[in-house]
Amino acid sequence: METLYEKLPGPLLTWYREHARKLPWRVDQDPYHVWLSEVMLQQTRVEAVKDYYIRFLESIPGISQLAQASDDQLTKLWEGLGYYSRVRNLQKAAKIIMENHGGQFPREYAQVRALPGIGDYTAGAICSICFQMPTPAVDGNVLRVLSRLEASFAPIDQPMTKKCMTEKLKCSYAQGNCGDLTQSLMELGATLCGPNRAPQCHMCPLESLCQAKALQCQEQLPVKSKKQTRKLEEKTVFLLRNEQFLAICKRPATGLLAGLWSYPIIDGHLTVQEALDWVEQAGCQPKELLKTVEKVHVFTHVQWNMQGIYLICGARPDAFHWVTDQQLQGEIGLPTAFRQFSEDQEVWTQRNFG
Ligand code: SF4
Repeated sequence: METLYEKLPGPLLTWYREHARKLPWRVDQDPYHVWLSEVMLQQTRVEAVKDYYIRFLESIPGISQLAQASDDQLTKLWEGLGYYSRVRNLQKAAKIIMENHGGQFPREYAQVRALPGIGDYTAGAICSICFQMPTPAVDGNVLRVLSRLEASFAPIDQPMTKKCMTEKLKCSYAQGNCGDLTQSLMELGATLCGPNRAPQCHMCPLESLCQAKALQCQEQLPVKSKKQTRKLEEKTVFLLRNEQFLAICKRPATGLLAGLWSYPIIDGHLTVQEALDWVEQAGCQPKELLKTVEKVHVFTHVQWNMQGIYLICGARPDAFHWVTDQQLQGEIGLPTAFRQFSEDQEVWTQRNFG
């Protein structure tokens, strides 16, 4: 008798071929394209990724250009996607491909998996979609679908759950159509059986196979075992303007947002007087405090509660890099954590700056 996993590909592939969304990275099976899209799609919605993907490929059409791109070009193209270590890993991997694989994307799973920034999921996705290998790609979306299909209450954030489901899924891949199978599971997990809303079982190609649907427990699944706890950190961010220039600086080479551009930022929430003293000591000659604002930025494990201080200064010391609003918009890749302060443009325009 056929198992659930052996029955799954037939209806799923038929549905996928009729209903798959047209996405720019599905036009071909070029491994560079699939790799780039998978890295961009980690933690970012499909709709948001489309423009980033097209823009990135227009600037950096291939692996050799990626290996040679400047840090500023990469961070500008990645601005707003967050997790800048991902684009740095893309480039590290591109350099390895150029040096060790003659510029050709490797075709062995172990070699793909060994590239920087490529984990089990991305390696599975690339190898199945581009090279038709039976390598399941199991992420949170796929785990949600599988735990509902099996009516499994095993916590999906446990490595053992993922390992077991990946193993079982290999039965489905044994039938071939590996690339479409990966994409169809991703598609179902992103649409009909997606997160943050009730599954649309009446339209699902797997409705008759789905054990959670039969038991009417689909909305209780999947389950997770642990709660995310985030460390709260207080920061003071300085928006320092002298004439048409704003102060920025580079983040340290390690830690959060390593090596990226930032507004001057220090730990803790300062009083106004402490902030003015800090700016004075930095050599900026504070002239006028325009306003203070509160902003929050949430990283995976840390939340920054930021206090922004907008100041007009009388000097531009070399301790900072001074840039115009146009440079900030067009050339400098500023992480979203800081870019939200740039959105308060009225503070400057009211004073005829910017
Ligand atoms: S029947 Fe419903 S719960 Fe089951 S896989 Fe389909 S959409 Fe998800």
